[in-house]
Amino acid sequence: MRKRIPYVVIVCPGHSGSTLLAMCLNAHPHLSVFGEFSTLARRAEQIISGERHGLCSFCDADCEVHTKAEISEIEQLYYAKNKYLRRAKSILFHSKFVTSIYEKTEARWLVDSSKSIRWARSLTRWHRRELDVKYIFLSRDGRSCINSWKRKNSDKPLSDVIRQWKKTVASIIVFKKELDPKDYVNIKYEDLACDPQAALSSICSFLNIGFVKEMLDYPSLPQHIVGGNAGARTRVNMVQKQSLNKGRKDIDWYIKQTQNFFYDERWKSELTGEELDLVTHSVGELNRILGYKK
Ligand SMILES: [Zn+2]
Repeated sequence: MRKRIPYVVIVCPGHSGSTLLAMCLNAHPHLSVFGEFSTLARRAEQIISGERHGLCSFCDADCEVHTKAEISEIEQLYYAKNKYLRRAKSILFHSKFVTSIYEKTEARWLVDSSKSIRWARSLTRWHRRELDVKYIFLSRDGRSCINSWKRKNSDKPLSDVIRQWKKTVASIIVFKKELDPKDYVNIKYEDLACDPQAALSSICSFLNIGFVKEMLDYPSLPQHIVGGNAGARTRVNMVQKQSLNKGRKDIDWYIKQTQNFFYDERWKSELTGEELDLVTHSVGELNRILGYKK
């Protein structure tokens, strides 16, 4: 029987710090972070329609890793006019594409930063024979997550954002119970931001690789990740003198950060008293299960 590909997927609600984590992991020589595999069919469609030109979130169309050849492979595998068919193809052909990516890398583990619980479930269901899937469950205080989500989607009612967060977290908790505990590790965003060496070391020992200091210096190392949060990429963009995403509303806040790791507590000042009461009450029980105090 063919050896399964060692594969790690980051699972979390949006705005939990997965881009920061992905960049840190990518700085490890035994880890290769591709990015958000779950979005490839949509990206292929955007490239074909001219809305997007490349896959790499750092170098766009000029990337030396995600080349034109790779883009055309993705188009051939995943493209379909119908979005449901695109989604079906992205699941159906995933192992095939991962095999071709893994053959090109010298890393021991391939990392998928898709985040999506739905995607993680589909990997478990359809690809366990080809992929040796491990999971990193990243959590963040619900109040902080919801505030970031709200900042980005200011047109959405706060109640919708809360509902979405609760639904995602509840699904993650149920999914985790179905897994063998040796197949996953839990990480808190707050620990990653405040004591990155300890948080990253626990992931390394879970994956049976040693911690390396380069992970703390992630902005200095080549990053060619597909997808992720533009704000979190700012530190790399600045250190590597890449163009900044000026369209982002809060880009100035990211530009002001002078450390590789910083603790984003903007929820404490950005939510009004009334909003904070509503969010705190709504996330209470799930937040407690995730290990956050009131
Ligand atoms: Zn690139």
